[in-house]
Amino acid sequence: MSEKKFESKLDNIDISIFTEMSMLANQYKAINLSQGFPEFDTPEFLKESVITFVQQGKNQYAPSTGMPDLLEQISELIQRQYNITLNANETITVTSGATEALWVAIQTLVRPNDEVIVFDPAYDSYEPAVALAGGRCIHIPMLAPDYKIDWQQVEAAITAKTKAIIINSPHNPTGTLLTEQDMQTVEKLVWENDLYLISDEVYEFITFDGRQHESVLRFPKLFERSLVISSFGKTFHCTGWKLGYCTAPPELTDEFRKIHQYVTFASFTPAQLGIAKMLQQAPTHITELAGFYQSKRDCLVNALQDSRFKLLNSQGTYFLLVDYSEISQQSDRAFCHWLTKEKGVAAIPLSPFYEKPTSDKIVRLCFAKNENTLLNAAEKLCQL
Ligand code: PMP
Ligand code: GLN
Repeated sequence: MSEKKFESKLDNIDISIFTEMSMLANQYKAINLSQGFPEFDTPEFLKESVITFVQQGKNQYAPSTGMPDLLEQISELIQRQYNITLNANETITVTSGATEALWVAIQTLVRPNDEVIVFDPAYDSYEPAVALAGGRCIHIPMLAPDYKIDWQQVEAAITAKTKAIIINSPHNPTGTLLTEQDMQTVEKLVWENDLYLISDEVYEFITFDGRQHESVLRFPKLFERSLVISSFGKTFHCTGWKLGYCTAPPELTDEFRKIHQYVTFASFTPAQLGIAKMLQQAPTHITELAGFYQSKRDCLVNALQDSRFKLLNSQGTYFLLVDYSEISQQSDRAFCHWLTKEKGVAAIPLSPFYEKPTSDKIVRLCFAKNENTLLNAAEKLCQL
């Protein structure tokens, strides 16, 4: 037998920071404001619909591209939201969560030695997917407290090897939004340099203070070169169902679907039918989502007013960044471990989202929680 040691393809990757912090929160019975998931349940109407579809025997494979009813409802949602008419059969593919959609989108575009530009702090699933496709991420940092993209730096980073740019707005973990001007700049860069764009828009319906989400779907010329990623998990408080979709022009969708059919083939049929019914019969859930989360953000922000944390501005998502530099000089990861074990509140450090960790003393709190939970956590945080 060969003595050769097994070599990992992802040598420098460990369990995700979300798993690490949620495990620690459970172990120490801390209030878990770390991993992003709602504490409240998915709407009753949606739960009942899915149960009914299970009982009606809708339990076999869906078409690989998605249940026709759901594809139709998604295209109507996109029409209402972004004012663009799409032929769902050619442009929308239902996936097992945004994670699968991102994975397949990256496989669709990236070949060995290609470069992909990502912005740090970057969501953790981009880099391993690019690496396993044989590509390399080029990281461009966004700096606190505004986390704006420096487009000149992006332009300077583009080489003959650059294949794609990955953007994420509303942005996890910073809660910032890209502006119309950002989108116009990215459109210009993409076309001038023959690039593609992957746009992670999983928090598309969660924007605050009247701000508009600048979806790629509002920019028809940019959309021609883009794969847009969405997730029902965030929208319907059902992160455990792992249902999302990718919207892309027909040529990219064809390639996306070839890969998707060999990753999962199809996603959970009863949830696809339940969400189609929800989109059709209860459309106000989505229009009310931003207000629902804005009051949670405001609850946490108000409850932390008298703390020694400096609060950054959350424009969207269900995350709030807080600066703890007046409280501790520990690294962000050490601070999060200490906070969980000693003070009973779990948060997420930002350094795992950077290629070159910064010395920032900033951590992420998730406010997708009941008001009581937020107030209890804030009371502990105010004692620091
Ligand atoms: N992208 C971002 C920015 C996310 O925050 C998440 C999940 N929180 C995902 C993708 C993955 O979404 P899903 O759970 O639908 O796979
Ligand atoms: N996206 C969620 C977050 O940002 C976690 C998802 C996961 O656990 N992989 O916290």
